[in-house]
Formats: sequence, C-alpha cells, structure tokens
Amino acid sequence: MFNSKQLTVLLGGLGAIVVLAAGAQFAVGGQPDKTRDTRSALHGGKPKNVIFFLGDGMGDQEVTAARYYQYGAAGHLNLDRLPFTGFQTTWSVKPDGKPDYDPDSASTGTMWATGTKTLDERISQGPSSAIDVPGKNLPTVLERAQKQGKKVGNVTTAELTDATPAVLDSHISLRGCQGPTDADTLCKTETKAAGGLGSIAEQTVDHRVDVALGGGRNRFAQTITGGKDAGKTVEQSAARQGITEVNDAAGLAAAKRSDRPLLGLFAPVNMTTEWNGPVATRGDGTPAQRCKTDNRPANEPSLPAMTKKAIDLLQGDRDGFFLQVEGASIDKQDHAANACAQIGETIAFDNAIRVAQEYARSHPDTLIVVTADHAHTSQIVGEDTSGTGNPTGYSNNLTTADDQTLRITYGTAGGATPPAVPPSQQHTGSVVPAFASGPGAAAVLGTTDHTDLFEVLGGGHGRR
Ligand code: MG
Ligand code: ZN
Repeated sequence: MFNSKQLTVLLGGLGAIVVLAAGAQFAVGGQPDKTRDTRSALHGGKPKNVIFFLGDGMGDQEVTAARYYQYGAAGHLNLDRLPFTGFQTTWSVKPDGKPDYDPDSASTGTMWATGTKTLDERISQGPSSAIDVPGKNLPTVLERAQKQGKKVGNVTTAELTDATPAVLDSHISLRGCQGPTDADTLCKTETKAAGGLGSIAEQTVDHRVDVALGGGRNRFAQTITGGKDAGKTVEQSAARQGITEVNDAAGLAAAKRSDRPLLGLFAPVNMTTEWNGPVATRGDGTPAQRCKTDNRPANEPSLPAMTKKAIDLLQGDRDGFFLQVEGASIDKQDHAANACAQIGETIAFDNAIRVAQEYARSHPDTLIVVTADHAHTSQIVGEDTSGTGNPTGYSNNLTTADDQTLRITYGTAGGATPPAVPPSQQHTGSVVPAFASGPGAAAVLGTTDHTDLFEVLGGGHGRR
C-alpha cells in the first residue's frame, strides 16, 4: 500500500524495464509503438476520461473460468490485453473497528468510491457504532468529477439502486433502502419526510447523473413521501426535473445528447442474464454441456451496447467524463451456483471492456481500470468422478472451446446436510485482480487496497 510519492520512487526504478518489455510485446503483435502511452501510464499523466469497470464478484477464478470456457486454455479475454495488473485487498470493517475479511458490495464500493473503509451494507457513509446508526456522508469520485465539470455515467446490469451503482450517487446507512417505500421501512431517519436525502432511487435522480442505465424500474415506481415531490413516484420526480426516461433497447438506441440527463430502466428488477444453463448439482455435478447463449430478450440492451451508448453520449465535452460500468450478475449467478449464467455475464462484461478499449485507442487520454469488489465462491476443480474425488459442494461440468470438460464447483454454503438445490453461496475473502491502461494506469501495480482506487479514479485532493 504505497502512496503516490512511494509509487513515483518505485516507478523510477521500474520504468525502463517495463517500457522495454511492453514495447517488445507490442512489436511482436504488429501494433503501433506504445512507448509514449506506456510512459504516460507509468508517470501518472492526468486522464481526461476515466472508465471504471467493476465485475461484481469477479475474482481470479471467475476470470479464468470465462477465459477457458469461451476461448480455450491458450485464449485471451479483452481484459488480458490491459498492460498493468495488480491485486487489491477488499476487507471491510465491523462496528467495533476490527477487520471483516469477507466484505459485501456496499462496503467495498464505498471504499473505492470514497477512499474510506466502512461497514458492510453502507452506501458511501463512514462506519459507526452499529449498523442502524447512520455514518457520515462521504464525497464520492462521481461527485468530484461533477464538480470538475466532467460528464458522469453509471451503467449496470443490476437494479440501478443496487449497492455498486448506488455508492457513486447516494449516501445511506443500509443498501436495502433502494426506493422510497423501502427507505420508509428500513431507513426511517434518512427519508425525505424525515429531512434526509431520501432513498437511493431518489438520490440517483436528484444527482442528475448524465447517463444512468440499468434495471430496477420497480424502485423508481415507488412513491415519495416527503419533500418537494411528495406524492410523486421517483419516475415522476425525474420527469419534473427534466430527466429523459427510456425503457427498452430501441429507446436507448434513439437517445441523443440533448436527452441528457438520461435515465434508462430496462427491467423491473435485475436485467436478464445473457446466457443460461443448469444450476450446479451435488456429487458428479451436471452432465458436460455447452451453455445456452441467447437468454437475454432483444428489448433489453446488452452491457456492451449500454457501454457504447454511454460513451457516445458522455464524450466530446472539454472536461471529459467519468463512467462506471458494472457487470453485476457475475456475483448474482455465483451466488446461484449457475456456471453458464456466471460465465455469460463475465464474457458480456469483457466485451464491454473491448468497447472502451476501442474508444481509448483513438482517445489515449482515457484511463481504463477493471477490478472486482470482492472474490467469490466458484472454483475450477479436477474432473475426477471416482467418488471420493468428487467435491462436497455443487458442481457444473461444461464443455470448453478446447472440447474438454471444465468442472466448476460451488462449496461455500449448504451446511452439514446440503439440500439438493444449492442455497445462496458466499462471497470469499481473497484479494481480487485489477487491470488498467492509459494515463496513471501503473497505480494498480503491486498489491494495494480498494481505498487506494479512490485517488486513481480521480477522487483525491492532489494531482487531479
Ligand atoms: Mg454490484
Ligand atoms: Zn454477492
């Protein structure tokens, strides 16, 4: 966990070696000389645009399973082409201030969005003595970007009010307070009726995020019970505030820059996964098979399509933009022990990264950072079917691009007498990978902490 000064000293020593190595690698691939871009990445040049990719629960196992299934053992994901990589610790804190090694997406999101360790369930508020005692509201990297005149975007495959998108534009003690009715029940002292900022849906709208795309329309259909828009739904409040709403892929495709702020709500709850397949089963697991890859209905835009449109709508202004793109259901399908759905979400996320890489090729003043908020349960294990060699958890067997069997097991929930249908699997506490390219990308080198990302993404008081 080095600071900027230590990083500069470290890079002074490493720079020449890394530049040479990267130059050689690009030359072999027939790419144009990247020495200048690499130097900018090493010496912390100031990015005009920041595109942050958050794969929820996308630890090294999830990345590796997607790579092997889709492209084979020798294949590469788009994120493998990001030249700077490192590890991130993700631990959160308990109300007594001691570390919690197995965090959730709210505490980890608050860490990279605000630079501060906090309790699980917290949305950009600091820690406090108990989970039901609100903490201090903390400025976020998106709010900083707005202050600097940047356009801002927030894209997810989950509900827009889910923890990861919420940490950028909301401050509330419990992640469950997603819509006004939810907050009236769970966060009584923070509602608009109580003089607070209101639920996550209300705060998302009130923040006038230039492009906000995802699921969760049901939260925005809940009725506000206090303040100026009491009696209106959050959607009606958005309309009153001049925000354009679209609800399907065609509406998104037709949206123009003059429609900003744009609110895209494409599903009542989470958006539909790209792929599907059987849920894992005990013992030998499911028969080896390929995944069904046409699960998403055409009226819901894909994550790459949302990413492309968000960049189109945000780019071109003098001060640049900040955009977060979340692959949310990598985590949700890991919980569900469904390897096909999990891998399909990882591949869609990786294809969204390619959209940003294409933009950055013609706009080299763009920093791309990819990471996960916490590790997760899936493990690649041996395909031994001899009985005692079988995992004690739940397994899926998939036939990879190499025409080999990839066995993925889920064994972090089920108890002493595991039920036939897997219960929600747990997050795990490992470090997660981080990948980056563009100005300042070298800040992800080595092992750092999620809180260090705040400055990398432009939230610090210093360089940016
Ligand atoms: Mg999330
Ligand atoms: Zn989770």
